[in-house]
Amino acid sequence: MTIFTKILKKEVPVDVVYEDDLCMAFRDIHPQAPTHVLVIPRKEIPSMAEIRPDDAVLLGHLMIKITEIAAKLGLAEDGYRVVTNVRAFGGQTVNHLHFHVLGGRPLSWPPG
Ligand code: 5GP
Repeated sequence: MTIFTKILKKEVPVDVVYEDDLCMAFRDIHPQAPTHVLVIPRKEIPSMAEIRPDDAVLLGHLMIKITEIAAKLGLAEDGYRVVTNVRAFGGQTVNHLHFHVLGGRPLSWPPG
């Protein structure tokens, strides 16, 4: 179990921006941009490396919600970034699939 399971169980408080029966979105505790939200499935999938064809509907749902959340937070016009870090070389620190939604300032590329 990761910290995100505790967040999903409401055992650890977070600033929730959206939730439904499949996912939750909340503000990152260490924001890397003026707006930094994490969008996570309720299903415990460790990372993108473990998704399976059965997860297609769930992943599609997450993509749609990310778009809606970004628009609701006022990021759509200027643009934003959606990132998922995978395992050690990807820089993943919490082994529960999550998508970072970052915006509110110009973001550089390539990443470090
Ligand atoms: P990763 O490095 O795995 O891609 O991203 C994990 C993210 O989860 C980090 O940006 C980190 O700041 C965030 N995070 C870790 N623990 C907590 C927490 O307890 N609350 C919130 N809101 N974010 C967390």
